Amino acid sequence: MSAPHVPVKRADFDQVMVPNYAPAAFIPVRGEGSRVWDQSCRELIDFSGGIAVNVLGHCHPRLVEALTEQAGQLWHVSNVFTNEPALRLAQKLVNATFAERVFFCNSGAEANEAAFKLARRVAHDRFGPEKHEIISALNSFHGRTFFTVSVAGQPKYSDGFGPKPQGITHVPFNDLAALEATISDKTCAVVLEPIQGESGIRPAEQAYLEGVRKLCDKHNALLIFDEVQTGVGRTGDLFAYMHHHVVPDILSSAKSLGGGFPIASILTTQELAGYFSVGVHGTTYGGNPLGCAVGGAVLDIVNTPEVLNGVKARHEIFKTRLQQIGAQYGLFDEIRGRGLLIGAQLTEGWLGKAGQVLAAAEKEALMVLQAGPDVVRFAPSLVIDEADIDEGLNRFERAVARLVNQG
Ligand SMILES: *Cc1c(COP(=O)(O)O)cnc(C)c1O
Repeated sequence: MSAPHVPVKRADFDQVMVPNYAPAAFIPVRGEGSRVWDQSCRELIDFSGGIAVNVLGHCHPRLVEALTEQAGQLWHVSNVFTNEPALRLAQKLVNATFAERVFFCNSGAEANEAAFKLARRVAHDRFGPEKHEIISALNSFHGRTFFTVSVAGQPKYSDGFGPKPQGITHVPFNDLAALEATISDKTCAVVLEPIQGESGIRPAEQAYLEGVRKLCDKHNALLIFDEVQTGVGRTGDLFAYMHHHVVPDILSSAKSLGGGFPIASILTTQELAGYFSVGVHGTTYGGNPLGCAVGGAVLDIVNTPEVLNGVKARHEIFKTRLQQIGAQYGLFDEIRGRGLLIGAQLTEGWLGKAGQVLAAAEKEALMVLQAGPDVVRFAPSLVIDEADIDEGLNRFERAVARLVNQG
Protein backbone atom coordinates (compact mmCIF):
# COMPACT_ATOMS: atom_id res chain seq x y z
CA MET A 1 0.00 0.00 0.00
CA SER A 2 1.29 3.45 -0.83
CA ALA A 3 1.31 6.17 1.82
CA PRO A 4 -1.75 8.47 1.93
CA HIS A 5 -1.43 11.58 -0.23
CA VAL A 6 -0.45 14.81 1.54
CA PRO A 7 -3.04 17.53 0.76
CA VAL A 8 -1.71 20.16 -1.69
CA LYS A 9 -3.11 23.41 -3.02
CA ARG A 10 -2.40 25.90 -5.80
CA ALA A 11 -0.48 28.18 -3.43
CA ASP A 12 2.08 25.40 -2.96
CA PHE A 13 3.14 25.91 -6.59
CA ASP A 14 4.83 29.18 -5.68
CA GLN A 15 6.69 27.49 -2.82
CA VAL A 16 8.08 24.44 -4.59
CA MET A 17 8.04 24.98 -8.37
CA VAL A 18 10.32 26.96 -10.67
CA PRO A 19 8.20 29.99 -11.63
CA ASN A 20 8.40 29.53 -15.41
CA TYR A 21 4.64 28.86 -15.58
CA ALA A 22 1.68 30.74 -14.16
CA PRO A 23 -0.97 28.01 -13.87
CA ALA A 24 -4.67 28.74 -13.35
CA ALA A 25 -6.04 29.16 -9.84
CA PHE A 26 -7.67 25.71 -9.71
CA ILE A 27 -6.08 22.24 -9.81
CA PRO A 28 -7.66 19.63 -12.10
CA VAL A 29 -7.78 16.22 -10.45
CA ARG A 30 -9.82 14.02 -12.76
CA GLY A 31 -10.92 13.91 -16.38
CA GLU A 32 -13.31 11.86 -18.45
CA GLY A 33 -13.92 12.54 -22.13
CA SER A 34 -14.13 16.32 -22.47
CA ARG A 35 -15.05 16.98 -18.83
CA VAL A 36 -12.56 17.79 -16.08
CA TRP A 37 -13.12 18.09 -12.34
CA ASP A 38 -11.06 20.24 -9.98
CA GLN A 39 -10.24 19.80 -6.28
CA SER A 40 -13.58 21.29 -5.25
CA CYS A 41 -15.45 18.90 -7.59
CA ARG A 42 -16.31 21.72 -9.99
CA GLU A 43 -16.93 20.29 -13.47
CA LEU A 44 -15.32 22.05 -16.43
CA ILE A 45 -15.65 21.50 -20.16
CA ASP A 46 -12.28 21.09 -21.84
CA PHE A 47 -11.76 22.83 -25.19
CA SER A 48 -8.00 23.03 -24.52
CA GLY A 49 -7.17 19.33 -24.83
CA GLY A 50 -3.96 19.68 -22.83
CA ILE A 51 -2.72 22.07 -25.58
CA ALA A 52 -3.73 19.97 -28.58
CA VAL A 53 -2.52 16.76 -26.94
CA ASN A 54 -5.53 14.88 -25.55
CA VAL A 55 -6.70 13.86 -28.95
CA LEU A 56 -9.25 11.38 -27.56
CA GLY A 57 -10.17 13.35 -24.46
CA HIS A 58 -9.32 12.29 -20.94
CA CYS A 59 -8.95 8.66 -19.89
CA HIS A 60 -10.30 7.15 -23.12
CA PRO A 61 -11.08 3.54 -22.17
CA ARG A 62 -8.99 2.05 -24.99
CA LEU A 63 -5.98 4.19 -24.08
CA VAL A 64 -6.34 3.31 -20.40
CA GLU A 65 -6.50 -0.33 -21.43
CA ALA A 66 -3.41 -0.08 -23.67
CA LEU A 67 -1.45 1.72 -20.95
CA THR A 68 -2.42 -0.53 -18.05
CA GLU A 69 -1.96 -3.70 -20.07
CA GLN A 70 1.55 -2.59 -21.02
CA ALA A 71 2.21 -1.37 -17.45
CA GLY A 72 1.79 -4.92 -16.22
CA GLN A 73 4.13 -6.26 -18.88
CA LEU A 74 7.25 -4.17 -19.56
CA TRP A 75 7.99 -0.48 -18.91
CA HIS A 76 11.44 0.24 -20.18
CA VAL A 77 14.40 -1.57 -21.65
CA SER A 78 16.36 1.30 -23.32
CA ASN A 79 17.52 1.25 -26.92
CA VAL A 80 20.09 -1.41 -26.17
CA PHE A 81 17.05 -3.58 -26.95
CA THR A 82 14.06 -3.00 -29.18
CA ASN A 83 10.53 -3.76 -28.04
CA GLU A 84 7.24 -4.93 -29.51
CA PRO A 85 5.08 -1.80 -28.97
CA ALA A 86 7.74 0.38 -30.67
CA LEU A 87 7.96 -1.91 -33.69
CA ARG A 88 4.17 -2.09 -33.96
CA LEU A 89 3.75 1.69 -33.75
CA ALA A 90 6.53 2.28 -36.28
CA GLN A 91 4.87 -0.18 -38.67
CA LYS A 92 1.56 1.66 -38.33
CA LEU A 93 3.20 5.03 -39.01
CA VAL A 94 5.06 3.68 -42.03
CA ASN A 95 1.88 2.10 -43.41
CA ALA A 96 -0.13 5.30 -42.94
CA THR A 97 2.31 7.92 -44.27
CA PHE A 98 5.07 8.75 -46.76
CA ALA A 99 7.59 7.54 -44.23
CA GLU A 100 9.76 4.46 -44.53
CA ARG A 101 11.63 4.97 -41.24
CA VAL A 102 10.69 6.24 -37.79
CA PHE A 103 12.72 7.65 -34.90
CA PHE A 104 11.04 7.85 -31.50
CA CYS A 105 11.66 10.41 -28.80
CA ASN A 106 9.66 12.08 -26.06
CA SER A 107 8.60 15.62 -26.95
CA GLY A 108 8.03 17.93 -29.87
CA ALA A 109 11.22 19.84 -29.22
CA GLU A 110 13.19 16.62 -29.19
CA ALA A 111 11.59 15.53 -32.46
CA ASN A 112 12.52 18.82 -34.10
CA GLU A 113 16.00 18.68 -32.60
CA ALA A 114 16.39 15.27 -34.25
CA ALA A 115 14.94 16.56 -37.53
CA PHE A 116 17.35 19.51 -37.64
CA LYS A 117 20.32 17.38 -36.71
CA LEU A 118 19.39 14.83 -39.37
CA ALA A 119 19.06 17.55 -42.02
CA ARG A 120 22.43 19.00 -41.04
CA ARG A 121 24.07 15.56 -41.06
CA VAL A 122 22.62 14.64 -44.45
CA ALA A 123 23.88 17.88 -46.01
CA HIS A 124 27.25 17.56 -44.29
CA ASP A 125 27.84 14.05 -45.52
CA ARG A 126 26.48 14.62 -49.03
CA PHE A 127 27.74 18.10 -49.81
CA GLY A 128 30.23 19.15 -47.11
CA PRO A 129 30.16 21.53 -44.13
CA GLU A 130 29.26 24.64 -46.17
CA LYS A 131 25.74 23.37 -46.68
CA HIS A 132 24.32 23.84 -43.20
CA GLU A 133 21.87 26.72 -43.31
CA ILE A 134 18.38 26.22 -41.96
CA ILE A 135 15.59 28.54 -43.07
CA SER A 136 12.47 28.87 -40.95
CA ALA A 137 9.48 31.19 -40.80
CA LEU A 138 9.20 34.25 -38.61
CA ASN A 139 6.90 33.69 -35.64
CA SER A 140 7.22 29.94 -35.91
CA PHE A 141 7.44 27.67 -32.89
CA HIS A 142 9.46 24.47 -32.76
CA GLY A 143 9.97 23.80 -29.04
CA ARG A 144 12.19 25.06 -26.22
CA THR A 145 15.58 23.41 -26.57
CA PHE A 146 18.25 25.92 -27.54
CA PHE A 147 18.51 24.69 -31.13
CA THR A 148 14.73 24.71 -31.60
CA VAL A 149 14.16 28.18 -30.10
CA SER A 150 17.01 29.45 -32.27
CA VAL A 151 15.44 27.98 -35.40
CA ALA A 152 12.01 29.42 -34.56
CA GLY A 153 11.89 33.12 -35.32
CA GLN A 154 10.82 34.42 -31.90
CA PRO A 155 13.43 36.41 -29.93
CA LYS A 156 11.27 36.33 -26.77
CA TYR A 157 12.04 32.60 -26.53
CA SER A 158 15.63 32.59 -27.78
CA ASP A 159 17.28 35.78 -26.48
CA GLY A 160 19.11 35.99 -23.19
CA PHE A 161 20.81 32.61 -23.23
CA GLY A 162 24.12 33.58 -24.75
CA PRO A 163 25.47 32.74 -28.20
CA LYS A 164 23.00 30.89 -30.40
CA PRO A 165 23.60 28.07 -32.85
CA GLN A 166 24.60 29.64 -36.16
CA GLY A 167 23.47 29.21 -39.74
CA ILE A 168 19.78 29.97 -39.22
CA THR A 169 17.76 32.46 -41.28
CA HIS A 170 14.15 33.59 -40.85
CA VAL A 171 11.75 34.60 -43.60
CA PRO A 172 8.13 35.83 -43.47
CA PHE A 173 5.59 33.00 -43.52
CA ASN A 174 3.52 32.52 -46.70
CA ASP A 175 5.94 34.74 -48.66
CA LEU A 176 7.41 32.65 -51.45
CA ALA A 177 9.41 35.52 -52.95
CA ALA A 178 11.17 36.06 -49.62
CA LEU A 179 12.14 32.39 -49.47
CA GLU A 180 13.28 32.41 -53.08
CA ALA A 181 15.52 35.40 -52.33
CA THR A 182 17.03 33.66 -49.29
CA ILE A 183 17.39 29.99 -50.21
CA SER A 184 20.72 29.00 -51.74
CA ASP A 185 22.93 26.01 -52.30
CA LYS A 186 24.10 26.49 -48.70
CA THR A 187 20.59 25.77 -47.44
CA CYS A 188 20.31 22.32 -45.90
CA ALA A 189 16.66 22.53 -44.86
CA VAL A 190 13.53 24.64 -44.79
CA VAL A 191 11.25 24.01 -41.83
CA LEU A 192 7.60 25.03 -41.65
CA GLU A 193 4.47 24.39 -39.63
CA PRO A 194 1.62 23.66 -42.09
CA ILE A 195 -0.50 25.74 -39.71
CA GLN A 196 1.49 28.03 -37.43
CA GLY A 197 0.04 27.07 -34.06
CA GLU A 198 1.50 29.01 -31.15
CA SER A 199 1.64 32.27 -33.07
CA GLY A 200 -2.03 32.46 -33.94
CA ILE A 201 -3.38 29.49 -35.98
CA ARG A 202 -2.14 30.75 -39.33
CA PRO A 203 -2.49 28.21 -42.16
CA ALA A 204 0.10 27.99 -44.91
CA GLU A 205 -1.31 28.67 -48.35
CA GLN A 206 -1.45 25.83 -50.85
CA ALA A 207 0.58 27.66 -53.52
CA TYR A 208 3.17 28.60 -50.90
CA LEU A 209 3.76 25.01 -49.81
CA GLU A 210 3.95 23.82 -53.42
CA GLY A 211 6.43 26.58 -54.20
CA VAL A 212 8.52 25.79 -51.13
CA ARG A 213 8.72 22.14 -52.16
CA LYS A 214 9.98 23.15 -55.62
CA LEU A 215 12.58 25.57 -54.22
CA CYS A 216 13.85 22.91 -51.83
CA ASP A 217 14.23 20.42 -54.68
CA LYS A 218 16.01 23.00 -56.82
CA HIS A 219 18.58 23.67 -54.09
CA ASN A 220 18.95 20.14 -52.70
CA ALA A 221 17.47 21.32 -49.42
CA LEU A 222 15.28 19.08 -47.29
CA LEU A 223 11.73 20.12 -46.49
CA ILE A 224 10.81 19.57 -42.85
CA PHE A 225 7.22 19.85 -41.71
CA ASP A 226 6.77 20.42 -38.02
CA GLU A 227 3.46 18.64 -37.49
CA VAL A 228 3.80 18.51 -33.72
CA GLN A 229 0.55 20.45 -33.37
CA THR A 230 -1.20 19.62 -36.67
CA GLY A 231 -0.47 15.89 -36.77
CA VAL A 232 -2.43 12.78 -35.84
CA GLY A 233 -5.90 13.86 -36.90
CA ARG A 234 -5.99 17.36 -35.45
CA THR A 235 -6.77 19.02 -38.81
CA GLY A 236 -9.17 16.32 -40.06
CA ASP A 237 -6.45 14.55 -42.05
CA LEU A 238 -4.05 12.15 -40.38
CA PHE A 239 -1.29 14.68 -41.11
CA ALA A 240 -1.75 18.15 -42.55
CA TYR A 241 0.63 17.44 -45.44
CA MET A 242 -1.96 14.99 -46.77
CA HIS A 243 -4.46 17.82 -47.21
CA HIS A 244 -1.95 19.76 -49.29
CA HIS A 245 -0.46 16.80 -51.21
CA VAL A 246 2.95 18.31 -50.50
CA VAL A 247 5.22 15.64 -49.08
CA PRO A 248 8.07 16.62 -46.75
CA ASP A 249 11.39 14.81 -46.41
CA ILE A 250 11.20 14.79 -42.64
CA LEU A 251 8.11 15.22 -40.47
CA SER A 252 8.02 15.73 -36.72
CA SER A 253 5.07 14.52 -34.68
CA ALA A 254 4.34 14.68 -30.95
CA LYS A 255 1.43 16.15 -28.96
CA SER A 256 -1.55 14.10 -30.23
CA LEU A 257 0.61 11.06 -30.97
CA GLY A 258 0.46 9.92 -27.34
CA GLY A 259 -2.99 11.31 -26.53
CA GLY A 260 -1.54 12.59 -23.23
CA PHE A 261 1.35 10.18 -22.76
CA PRO A 262 4.70 11.77 -23.70
CA ILE A 263 5.90 10.37 -27.00
CA ALA A 264 7.16 11.95 -30.21
CA SER A 265 8.67 10.85 -33.48
CA ILE A 266 10.26 11.90 -36.70
CA LEU A 267 9.20 10.26 -39.93
CA THR A 268 11.49 10.12 -42.93
CA THR A 269 12.61 8.11 -45.93
CA GLN A 270 14.87 5.08 -45.87
CA GLU A 271 17.57 6.97 -47.72
CA LEU A 272 17.70 9.92 -45.34
CA ALA A 273 17.36 7.70 -42.28
CA GLY A 274 20.62 6.03 -43.31
CA TYR A 275 22.54 9.14 -42.26
CA PHE A 276 21.54 8.49 -38.65
CA SER A 277 23.77 5.45 -38.50
CA VAL A 278 24.56 3.63 -35.25
CA GLY A 279 25.54 6.07 -32.51
CA VAL A 280 24.93 9.31 -34.43
CA HIS A 281 21.86 10.26 -32.39
CA GLY A 282 19.85 8.81 -29.52
CA THR A 283 17.76 9.23 -26.39
CA THR A 284 17.30 6.98 -23.36
CA TYR A 285 13.50 6.87 -23.32
CA GLY A 286 12.82 7.02 -27.06
CA GLY A 287 10.50 4.22 -28.13
CA ASN A 288 9.57 3.46 -24.54
CA PRO A 289 7.05 0.56 -24.47
CA LEU A 290 4.46 2.47 -22.43
CA GLY A 291 4.38 5.45 -24.80
CA CYS A 292 4.42 3.28 -27.91
CA ALA A 293 1.60 1.07 -26.62
CA VAL A 294 -0.55 4.15 -26.06
CA GLY A 295 0.52 5.70 -29.39
CA GLY A 296 -0.49 2.52 -31.20
CA ALA A 297 -3.96 2.65 -29.66
CA VAL A 298 -4.27 6.37 -30.50
CA LEU A 299 -3.39 5.73 -34.13
CA ASP A 300 -5.78 2.78 -34.44
CA ILE A 301 -8.67 4.97 -33.32
CA VAL A 302 -7.75 8.28 -34.97
CA ASN A 303 -6.76 6.92 -38.38
CA THR A 304 -10.29 5.90 -39.32
CA PRO A 305 -12.76 7.69 -41.63
CA GLU A 306 -15.28 7.98 -38.77
CA VAL A 307 -12.93 9.95 -36.55
CA LEU A 308 -11.28 12.04 -39.29
CA ASN A 309 -14.61 12.93 -40.93
CA GLY A 310 -15.98 13.63 -37.46
CA VAL A 311 -13.23 16.19 -36.95
CA LYS A 312 -14.28 18.02 -40.12
CA ALA A 313 -17.95 17.96 -39.06
CA ARG A 314 -17.10 19.30 -35.60
CA HIS A 315 -15.07 22.08 -37.20
CA GLU A 316 -18.20 23.32 -38.93
CA ILE A 317 -20.18 23.33 -35.67
CA PHE A 318 -17.46 25.38 -33.96
CA LYS A 319 -16.99 27.72 -36.88
CA THR A 320 -20.67 28.51 -37.40
CA ARG A 321 -21.30 29.22 -33.75
CA LEU A 322 -18.07 31.15 -33.22
CA GLN A 323 -18.79 33.35 -36.22
CA GLN A 324 -22.21 34.07 -34.76
CA ILE A 325 -20.79 34.90 -31.31
CA GLY A 326 -18.08 37.04 -32.89
CA ALA A 327 -20.59 39.00 -34.99
CA GLN A 328 -22.94 39.52 -32.05
CA TYR A 329 -20.40 40.77 -29.51
CA GLY A 330 -17.63 42.20 -31.70
CA LEU A 331 -14.89 40.59 -29.61
CA PHE A 332 -13.36 38.61 -32.48
CA ASP A 333 -13.92 38.36 -36.20
CA GLU A 334 -11.89 35.96 -38.34
CA ILE A 335 -12.13 32.26 -37.45
CA ARG A 336 -9.02 30.43 -38.74
CA GLY A 337 -7.67 26.92 -38.84
CA ARG A 338 -8.77 23.48 -39.92
CA GLY A 339 -10.35 20.56 -38.14
CA LEU A 340 -10.18 20.99 -34.39
CA LEU A 341 -7.34 23.46 -34.41
CA ILE A 342 -9.28 26.70 -34.46
CA GLY A 343 -8.28 30.30 -33.76
CA ALA A 344 -10.57 33.29 -33.19
CA GLN A 345 -8.79 36.54 -34.07
CA LEU A 346 -9.57 39.30 -31.54
CA THR A 347 -10.76 42.60 -33.01
CA GLU A 348 -8.76 45.80 -32.70
CA GLY A 349 -10.17 46.98 -29.37
CA TRP A 350 -9.43 43.59 -27.81
CA LEU A 351 -5.93 43.00 -29.13
CA GLY A 352 -3.57 41.72 -26.45
CA LYS A 353 -6.46 40.53 -24.29
CA ALA A 354 -6.68 36.81 -25.08
CA GLY A 355 -5.63 36.12 -21.49
CA GLN A 356 -8.73 37.96 -20.24
CA VAL A 357 -10.92 35.80 -22.47
CA LEU A 358 -9.35 32.67 -20.98
CA ALA A 359 -9.95 33.94 -17.46
CA ALA A 360 -13.58 34.81 -18.27
CA ALA A 361 -14.10 31.35 -19.80
CA GLU A 362 -12.65 29.72 -16.71
CA LYS A 363 -15.20 31.57 -14.55
CA GLU A 364 -17.85 29.86 -16.69
CA ALA A 365 -16.18 26.47 -16.13
CA LEU A 366 -14.67 26.26 -19.61
CA MET A 367 -11.04 25.59 -20.52
CA VAL A 368 -9.83 27.30 -23.71
CA LEU A 369 -6.37 28.37 -24.91
CA GLN A 370 -4.73 31.36 -26.44
CA ALA A 371 -2.34 31.36 -29.40
CA GLY A 372 -0.37 34.50 -28.72
CA PRO A 373 -1.98 37.57 -27.11
CA ASP A 374 -4.48 38.22 -29.92
CA VAL A 375 -6.04 34.84 -30.66
CA VAL A 376 -8.31 32.52 -28.67
CA ARG A 377 -7.51 28.92 -29.54
CA PHE A 378 -9.70 25.83 -29.42
CA ALA A 379 -8.09 22.38 -29.55
CA PRO A 380 -10.57 19.95 -28.03
CA SER A 381 -10.72 16.18 -28.19
CA LEU A 382 -11.31 14.90 -31.71
CA VAL A 383 -14.20 12.80 -30.43
CA ILE A 384 -15.85 15.43 -28.23
CA ASP A 385 -19.64 14.89 -27.99
CA GLU A 386 -21.84 17.38 -29.78
CA ALA A 387 -23.61 18.00 -26.48
CA ASP A 388 -20.29 19.01 -24.91
CA ILE A 389 -19.51 21.29 -27.85
CA ASP A 390 -22.90 23.00 -27.52
CA GLU A 391 -22.65 23.37 -23.76
CA GLY A 392 -19.04 24.57 -23.99
CA LEU A 393 -19.96 27.16 -26.60
CA ASN A 394 -22.89 28.31 -24.43
CA ARG A 395 -20.41 28.84 -21.62
CA PHE A 396 -18.05 30.60 -24.00
CA GLU A 397 -20.81 32.92 -25.16
CA ARG A 398 -21.66 33.79 -21.54
CA ALA A 399 -17.99 34.56 -20.89
CA VAL A 400 -17.78 36.76 -23.98
CA ALA A 401 -21.03 38.57 -23.08
CA ARG A 402 -19.77 39.25 -19.59
CA LEU A 403 -16.43 40.59 -20.84
CA VAL A 404 -18.07 42.84 -23.41
CA ASN A 405 -20.65 44.15 -20.91
CA GLN A 406 -17.88 44.99 -18.45
CA GLY A 407 -16.25 46.97 -21.29
C1 LIG B 1 4.14 22.21 -29.02
C2 LIG B 1 4.97 22.36 -30.22
C3 LIG B 1 6.33 22.04 -30.21
C4 LIG B 1 7.07 21.65 -28.96
O1 LIG B 1 6.61 20.45 -28.42
P1 LIG B 1 7.08 20.04 -26.92
O2 LIG B 1 6.47 18.70 -26.73
O3 LIG B 1 6.51 21.11 -26.02
O4 LIG B 1 8.54 20.05 -26.90
C5 LIG B 1 7.04 22.11 -31.40
N1 LIG B 1 6.44 22.49 -32.54
C6 LIG B 1 5.14 22.83 -32.58
C7 LIG B 1 4.53 23.23 -33.89
C8 LIG B 1 4.35 22.79 -31.43
O5 LIG B 1 3.07 23.15 -31.47
